Amino acid sequence: MLALDGIAKVSGRTTPAPLVDPFARAITYLRVSVTDRCDFRCVYCMAEDMTFLPKQDLLSLEELDRLCSAFIAKGVRKLRLTGGEPLVRRGIMTLVSSLGRHLQSGALDELTLTTNGSQLQKYAQDLANVGVKRINVSLDTLDPDKFRAITRWGDLHKVLDGIEAARAAGLAVKINAVALKGVNEDEFVRLIEWAHGLGMDLTLIEVMPLGDVGAGRLDQYLPLSMVRAGLAQRFTFNEIDYHTGGPARYVRIAETGGRLGFITPLTHNFCESCNRVRVTCTGTLFMCLGQEDAADLRKPLRASESDDLLYTAIDEAISRKPKGHDFVIDRRHQRPAVARHMSVTGG
Ligand code: SAM
Ligand code: SF4
Repeated sequence: MLALDGIAKVSGRTTPAPLVDPFARAITYLRVSVTDRCDFRCVYCMAEDMTFLPKQDLLSLEELDRLCSAFIAKGVRKLRLTGGEPLVRRGIMTLVSSLGRHLQSGALDELTLTTNGSQLQKYAQDLANVGVKRINVSLDTLDPDKFRAITRWGDLHKVLDGIEAARAAGLAVKINAVALKGVNEDEFVRLIEWAHGLGMDLTLIEVMPLGDVGAGRLDQYLPLSMVRAGLAQRFTFNEIDYHTGGPARYVRIAETGGRLGFITPLTHNFCESCNRVRVTCTGTLFMCLGQEDAADLRKPLRASESDDLLYTAIDEAISRKPKGHDFVIDRRHQRPAVARHMSVTGG
């Protein structure tokens, strides 16, 4: 309750000004990468020999809570914890459970997570108990050998058991799969039938040029416009007006009855409706996933017990939120659009 006390005491108002960027987009969605570490090394996300941040650079769980709460006080209604792998951060359930109070108070509409699923068997029930209703699980293939090759270290069966545990705990699970040229492009039908057969939405994602992963992006990149055209030969797509607050555009597949989403940062830029910003585990605020500009929130957070400095820093950063990203992957553009890996800001 630190932040809420802080607002009442300092400003005399019950809520500070909401966040609206220069393009009149209201910022209501915050993604927080709670750790840059992960138990996998997915080939499109990380290099094999990643160097991670020293633990002392990380915000503590209490600081992460205060930061999230400040954004909630400024009108954020949806909070996603991500990473790295959020469920490998020590003590993570303390944070999730504490943030659950904002669901109970009605200040937050949704508290959710993006996870690789490896720790879900352990945490699914606890997540459900503190008010998490939906989670995204990243899974690019149902083939155990391919899974190990993509993640470099992962065990598919552990993830499938984790998904089962999440469903058993009553969590709605959405599967996210990155479309990878020559790797899983022959598997989308199987993934759709599997996910929809279990009542789970599936979203396909275009690979984005974030960070040096030691592989040419052109070798990985599969435009979803092509995938969609191929799948439309096999399935009947019905356009639906379904939004989760994220960038996916959905269709319902007549044959399976399930929803299929497309996240297409390259073939169809969705920045005009962007409602989100991202904070890293060191308290750096990125106003756009695809741009370098950032604001340090750790300093104002630590400078004072009141949240006033933090609010000012957040306002100032949002006033610089750019119109959008400039991702391009083609023969001339194979270098990362930004140097940092996806695991720094989370998906
Ligand atoms: N470890 C968790 C997981 O894998 O779900 C959360 C963090 S991960 C960085 C979040 C999402 O970003 C995952 O769905 C992952 O597939 C996706 N991702 C990672 N690197 C990507 C890239 N270069 N382009 C597109 N998606 C990427
Ligand atoms: Fe880890 Fe997720 Fe990145 Fe894979 S995509 S390496 S699971 S952070």
